[in-house]
Amino acid sequence: MTTKHWMKNFGVGVLLLTLTAPVAAPAQTNKPEPIEGFRDTPLIPGTKWHIHDPDRPQPPVVAPAASFSQSAPAPSDAEVLFDGQDLSKWQNDRGQDAPWVVKEGYMEPAAQQGIRTRGKWADFQLHVEFATPNPPHGAGQGRGNSGILINNMYEVQVLDSYQAQTYPDGQCAAIYGQSPPLVNACKPPGEWQTYDIIFESPRWNDHGDLLKKAVITVLQNGIVVQNHYEFIGGTDGINGQVPWRTPAKYPPHPPEVFVELQYHNSTIHYRNLWIRKLGQRDQAATVDTK
Ligand code: MG
Repeated sequence: MTTKHWMKNFGVGVLLLTLTAPVAAPAQTNKPEPIEGFRDTPLIPGTKWHIHDPDRPQPPVVAPAASFSQSAPAPSDAEVLFDGQDLSKWQNDRGQDAPWVVKEGYMEPAAQQGIRTRGKWADFQLHVEFATPNPPHGAGQGRGNSGILINNMYEVQVLDSYQAQTYPDGQCAAIYGQSPPLVNACKPPGEWQTYDIIFESPRWNDHGDLLKKAVITVLQNGIVVQNHYEFIGGTDGINGQVPWRTPAKYPPHPPEVFVELQYHNSTIHYRNLWIRKLGQRDQAATVDTK
């Protein structure tokens, strides 16, 4: 037996003795867990906070009501993206069939890939239901991470932030790296939660000048968590255009965008997804004469 093995076995022996002998309770330190984050990243424009700043205030907790839009049926003009049956409306980033797995009325990640809609919309209302892993495991950004990645550029974070802290601009319902949610409206791990998202795509003119920023409103479990927030650009860490922990940028793109469900090393469940294109005020209804 090598010294290393002897020490390992001796360590197990000590552990067993410890478990079987009466021991004093460990001292209570009441020391809060440190919050992960960075203080050496650039400041977020218009704020005094660094990108992923652990010192940014933690949003107050609001307990959502038992239900809001859980299992909400799609309105008549919505496109159902996932009704618990099949993934035909989804693909991977190479245009191949979505590799996720459909289980009993929900889907979950597989093949370590995100999936994105085959369809695209400029301005839309999106309904999403998700549940974070139960029992929970991991901490901070490693605790049930996924995300709603609009055009693989603009992330509404999905994370288990129920009685769990991380840097506030990366917690559940944050616009990642930019805007913490107004409140923490999370439900416990394993419970179905809702996102009702209203998104307006950014617009550029023909010269590539930004005319209108992307705007988003998000309700989590019926509670407004992002209120007409103007993105300062694409969020960091999704693709090479804005590397992790670097300032947001606005590379021009067509207004029509897809919706992606992020794979980020966690088994998040999703169900009941539908989307509505937002129309314009004072536009007459078009009549299908075919
Ligand atoms: Mg994420």
